[in-house]
Amino acid sequence: MRPKAGRVMDIAAPLRLRVDRDALRSNWQALDRLSGTAACGAAVKANGYGLGASLVAETLAGAGCRDFFVANWAEALALAPLGLTVSVLHGLRAEDLPAARVGVARPVLNSPEQVARWRDGGGGRCDVMVDTGINRLGVSVQAVGEGLLDGLEIDTLLSHLACADEDVPMNAAQQRAFAGLAGRTSARRMSLANSAGIGLGADYHFDLTRPGLALYGGVPRPDMAGHLRQVGIPEAQILQRRRVPAGETVGYNATWTAPAETEVAIINLGYADGYRRALSNKGAAVVDGLELPVLGRVSMDLIAVDVTALPDLGEGDWLAMAYDLAEASALSGVSQYELLTGLGQRFARG
Ligand SMILES: *Cc1c(COP(=O)(O)O)cnc(C)c1O
Repeated sequence: MRPKAGRVMDIAAPLRLRVDRDALRSNWQALDRLSGTAACGAAVKANGYGLGASLVAETLAGAGCRDFFVANWAEALALAPLGLTVSVLHGLRAEDLPAARVGVARPVLNSPEQVARWRDGGGGRCDVMVDTGINRLGVSVQAVGEGLLDGLEIDTLLSHLACADEDVPMNAAQQRAFAGLAGRTSARRMSLANSAGIGLGADYHFDLTRPGLALYGGVPRPDMAGHLRQVGIPEAQILQRRRVPAGETVGYNATWTAPAETEVAIINLGYADGYRRALSNKGAAVVDGLELPVLGRVSMDLIAVDVTALPDLGEGDWLAMAYDLAEASALSGVSQYELLTGLGQRFARG
């Protein structure tokens, strides 16, 4: 007999990614202030950097954000019910044209081929990416000078910084190349800065900034740390509590040995959920400011945590992990971007 799965309405996930909406709003407001006279948009690609694109976009719209950026048209379609102004950074393939024509979002045209595709399809308001040195996406400064964009109805002219998180001459070179395009197209606005670019100062802000990482509590440049709060908090349920005698080990390859009898909680979280193996013997859970160290290897689906200090914690209780992005990145050697966007599909989000 087939199990009547349909009758089981919902099974609560044993792990959740809590999104601190106040912190998210506060980060956007801080970045809006730091953007000076420029408007502050939001990059919500990659499912809102892993935190949930709809939840993030709705929260930021409520705070006053008006310009949203995703990578592709499937992401734009997912946000369509919210009725926001969305631009698609990866431009316009032939198969994207129908969605673009019905106004799901604005394409950011990246190549002469995409410009031609948009014109042939009927044109209309669009954005354009100009490459000023990152050599990733975008039309060349030279092509703009030669008239590639003439007659195009451009809302925002964009370019993207390669090294905004460093203090290198390339930043100023890109800024100058981009500034040189002012007034050369029909664009109503110009936009250069990502999160780190906002920290480079007023010359980099133009009319619109496009932070991603910093909205979600990542620290793109050390001098921006004081303005930003943690947003995503991974939490997992305790599956079992056990006493480990002195001298015994915990986890794969026995990398942690109990120096004394230790109380250990095994929680429902692992590297398959994006909690990186590099945090083995380095990460921690946090309860009321008290750090509970991760013991031994992070497994695919399980982590052991020292709960000796908290005798009342047991099966079914939830533990929040320490996941300040700058700290977790320094501990693990994994980039803040990867720590955030790698959080997996098994989390309940909200
Ligand atoms: C991802 C992205 C951003 C946001 O970058 P962060 O470094 O996360 O602030 C801005 N602009 C473009 C073109 C992007 O691809």
